[in-house]
Amino acid sequence: MVAGFFRECTNPDCGFRYPDLNSNCELAYCPKCGEVATVASRINSNQKNLYVSESRLEIIPLLDNIRSVYNVGSIIRTCEGFGIREIILSGITPTPVHPRMDKTGLGSIQNIKWVFANNGLQKVIELKAKGFQVISLESSQTAIPIGQVNKTILQKHLCLVVGNEKHGIDPEIQKISDLVIAIPMSGEKESFNVSVAFGIAAYHLVMVARV
Ligand SMILES: [Zn+2]
Repeated sequence: MVAGFFRECTNPDCGFRYPDLNSNCELAYCPKCGEVATVASRINSNQKNLYVSESRLEIIPLLDNIRSVYNVGSIIRTCEGFGIREIILSGITPTPVHPRMDKTGLGSIQNIKWVFANNGLQKVIELKAKGFQVISLESSQTAIPIGQVNKTILQKHLCLVVGNEKHGIDPEIQKISDLVIAIPMSGEKESFNVSVAFGIAAYHLVMVARV
């Protein structure tokens, strides 16, 4: 967290409450209505994430043909949070040299080694040959619900594959995956945003491996 204020507008009809990270002065004006906005709460910059865990799993995410730089940045930041040290980007997936990447990844990429491959399928074949268990995250008909993934079916070295926002994971990659897993949905939409799905799946894998 970054030091700063939360401000609240003094205009009772407005009451806009917002974070003000840049201003050091006590006096500021409401961006909604222009009235004085007072400091309502201070943000303590010393707050750190109290929950830090070391996983016994090695997870290498493979981001194959992800279109959106924001999704990639978000996934990289999630990887950093889970202590993942290496990721593979393939196909059309934008790499960290993309000009818009740093804002979304918030510098997380500095802690993670990334590798780019033109051909994601080839990379999956290589990883399998190295003994990685390949897990595709895809809501296909053959997928097993992620809740059924427990410690007994997980190996120590995993490759977690996510794919294109519209077309999903390359069918050939799905075919040679050791597991295809899906997050059960209750809403109208057919799938979660890929970076959200990645976060849910990574969390599940890390947690079941700890039990
Ligand atoms: Zn206001």
